Amino acid sequence: MVKKIDHLGIAVHSIDQARDFYEKVLGLVCEKIEVVESQQVKTAFFAIGDTHIELLEPLSETSPIAKFLQKKGEGIHHVGYLTDDIEGCLTKARLAGVSLIHEEPVEGSGNKQIAFLHPKSTGGVLTEFCADPED
Ligand code: ZN
Repeated sequence: MVKKIDHLGIAVHSIDQARDFYEKVLGLVCEKIEVVESQQVKTAFFAIGDTHIELLEPLSETSPIAKFLQKKGEGIHHVGYLTDDIEGCLTKARLAGVSLIHEEPVEGSGNKQIAFLHPKSTGGVLTEFCADPED
């Protein structure tokens, strides 16, 4: 049902400050920077092989990323799994008793459909399903 790790989400206070490590030390290339209004975040995607690192910077105090930074500080925020059947993945998770943050997919960066599972149900790891828009 899930095909691969699409990206790792990493919460940062400032993409401008954090990107140096990924560009200058790891030698990765920033493919795009995008604002996702629905999540109140700015994202920066760095390609590595056929997966990505997604830096997440909060746009406001009400952003889920702002709350994460207040509680835990900077660090790994979520794992994003690619699927071509996001509804099926959500149904399977729901039937397994997993708490869903999104009952239905919402629009994420790159017009992908995304949905999050609650970390209390997934061993402490915020888990995201994502599907390409053409799927
Ligand atoms: Zn993500």
